[in-house]
Amino acid sequence: MPTHAAPVRTLLEWFAAHARDLPWRRTRDPWAVLVSEVMLQQTQVKTVIPYWECWMRRFPDAASLATAGEAEVLKLWEGLGYYRRARNLQAAACALVTEHGGRFPRNLDAILALPGVGRYTAGAVASIAFNQPAPILDGNVMRVLARLFAVDGDPAAREVNARLWRLAGELVVTAARIERPRERACSALNQALMELGATVCTPRTPACPTCPVRRHCAAHRTGRVAELPAPRARPATSARRFLVIAAEHAERWLVRRRPAAEVNGGFWEFPNVEVLSDGDADPAAAASRLLGVRHAAPERLGEVRHAITRYRVTQEAWRVRLPRAVKPRDGGAWHTLAELHALPMVTAHRRLLKRLEAA
Ligand code: SF4
Repeated sequence: MPTHAAPVRTLLEWFAAHARDLPWRRTRDPWAVLVSEVMLQQTQVKTVIPYWECWMRRFPDAASLATAGEAEVLKLWEGLGYYRRARNLQAAACALVTEHGGRFPRNLDAILALPGVGRYTAGAVASIAFNQPAPILDGNVMRVLARLFAVDGDPAAREVNARLWRLAGELVVTAARIERPRERACSALNQALMELGATVCTPRTPACPTCPVRRHCAAHRTGRVAELPAPRARPATSARRFLVIAAEHAERWLVRRRPAAEVNGGFWEFPNVEVLSDGDADPAAAASRLLGVRHAAPERLGEVRHAITRYRVTQEAWRVRLPRAVKPRDGGAWHTLAELHALPMVTAHRRLLKRLEAA
C-alpha cells in the first residue's frame, strides 16, 4: 500500500485546528452520528442543525424512535425533504431494538445491514463513533480525492469509483497507523476529508492558496484543478405542472394523505392533478373531477415552484368555496387551519397553505 503519511498528518493537524463546531461533533454516540449522517445526505449543514437538535431531543435513542407514530416522525422531518430517509431511520431504529437489543453494533457489516444504511453511512458511523479504519466516499470526499490524486474519469463510473474508495481506505488506514494518540485518528481523518471538501476544496472556487494539503495536491501541482473531477453527465430536466384545488367549507379545508408507497407517502396535501406542462388547463374541470361537484368556480391563489430530482415542478393553486362539504375520497379529510398546521404536509403544499392564510 502506498504511504500517505504526509498528507494524512497535515489533514489531521488542520482538522484539529479548523474543524467547525457542529452539534453532532460534540458526541460519539453512534445513534446521534447516524441521524446526522442521514440528515446531511442531499442537505446543507445549516439546514440540518435545527432539525438534528429537535430530532435528538425527541428521539435521543433508537428505542424512542422505534415506538413513535408515523405522523409524528414525518412532522419532525417536514421541510427537510427526501422523506424516505425518515422512514429508513425508523426502520433502522426498529432493527437496532429487535436485532441488537437497542445497542448499536460496532461491526461494519452489521451497521451496513441496517435498513437504509449504505456504504458511505456505515463507514461514517464506524469511523466517527467507533474510530474504525472504515473509508467514506461522498460527493465532497470524491472531489477532494480526485484532485489530490489527479484521478481522471467520472467519479461515479465503476472503475473510477472503486479507485476512489481504495484511496479513501488507504488514507484512513494510514491515519490509524501513524497518529498518536490513535483513539480518534480514523474519526478525525474522515471528518477532515469531509470538512476540506465542504469548506476549502469546493466545487467551483476551491481555495487552493490557503489549502492545507496544496503541497501534496497533484491537481494543484499540474494546474488541473478546474478540470477535476471530470463533470458527470446530468440527466435532462423536465417540467411538470399540477393544478391544486384548495376546497373550503365552513372554515375547513379538504386535504388527503398520500399513499405510503408513493413519493412523500404519509404526508398530507390538497387534492391535485397533473396537467400538461405547456398546454391549457381547466381548473373548473379539475375541481369537478377531484371533488365530484358541478359548476365549481375556482379563484386563482397563486403558484409555487420547486425542483425535485430532475423535475421542475409548478403547483398552481385554486381556491373553491363549497356551499356544502363533499364526502372526502381517497384518504381525504376536512380540517381547520389549526389542524392542518399540526399535520405533516408536503413542503410545496405547506407554502400554499401560507398563501391561503395570507389571502
Ligand atoms: Fe483542493 Fe486546491 Fe487543496 Fe488541491 S490544493 S485539495 S484542488 S483546494
